[in-house]
Amino acid sequence: MNLAEIVKEIVAEIEPHRGEGKVADYIPALACVDPMKFGIAVATPDGECHSAGDADEPFSVQSISKVFTLALALQKVGDDLWQRVGREPSGSAFNSIVQLEHERGIPRNPLINAGAIVVTDHLIDNGDADAAIELLLRVLRDHAEDQSIDIDYDVAVSESDTGARNRSLAWFMASFGNLENDVEVALSAYFRHCALALSCAQLARAALFLAFNGEDPVTGERILTPQRCRRINAIMMSCGHYDNSGDFAFRIGLPGKSGVGGGILAIVPGQGAAATWSPGLNEAGTSRVGALALEALVARTGWSVFG
Ligand code: GLN
Repeated sequence: MNLAEIVKEIVAEIEPHRGEGKVADYIPALACVDPMKFGIAVATPDGECHSAGDADEPFSVQSISKVFTLALALQKVGDDLWQRVGREPSGSAFNSIVQLEHERGIPRNPLINAGAIVVTDHLIDNGDADAAIELLLRVLRDHAEDQSIDIDYDVAVSESDTGARNRSLAWFMASFGNLENDVEVALSAYFRHCALALSCAQLARAALFLAFNGEDPVTGERILTPQRCRRINAIMMSCGHYDNSGDFAFRIGLPGKSGVGGGILAIVPGQGAAATWSPGLNEAGTSRVGALALEALVARTGWSVFG
């Protein structure tokens, strides 16, 4: 299999669709991103990264960051995490509040906004959100073997300035006692990790451990236990695209995570990690052209967790 050729073919294949979908504008700083951008990268265990298009240009990873905060929180608090967040698909939008009342402030899963805010809350000790963000940056830079990874602070400020919905979710959960830190402290860490800027190549490399039972196949570093790694993949498969998760599993058949910046991360257990970027989204906030590109990738490689 020649992945270098395959990613080039995919850029040609998506060409007629380039620019499709709607760029997120509820976070004003995301609205000005060029909708014609497209990148794809596939990181493999030999340390290679096969990429094409705009694969080296950093973009706002948004909710894809929730996968990394989940991994960190599981490392830190283990299974106690599941007392404050569930692991069922929500079947509703990423920023939905409706289910929180019925389930007494316990979010359905760690990948919807409410669940991710609880996960982030777990990462903050002594009210120090800056330390939690520094740890996340350190971990991502190490995993990606790239010290240049950073947060786009314009995006973080823009999201905070327009963050009424996430504030509502956080205050609602706080009313049930499901946040340990001050609401604004938890949100300041949440907004910053959503504003992480990574390229497709950096993202695929940083997530490679998820395809190899929690161990980075390039450096040999163990990051998570195999069981926790499998569970993150299971949650990505069932919840990674909110109310679009079933369609993503049907079409692509890999654990994945979307972000409203237009990125998608897909994990291919035992093979590698793939990332795509195209800013135009479908109604559920998944990149339209990114999903098409991943469909083209699995069609060519035969990759699927369903055999
Ligand atoms: N930061 C975004 C938000 O909280 C993340 C949403 C997403 O990428 N699906 O609304």
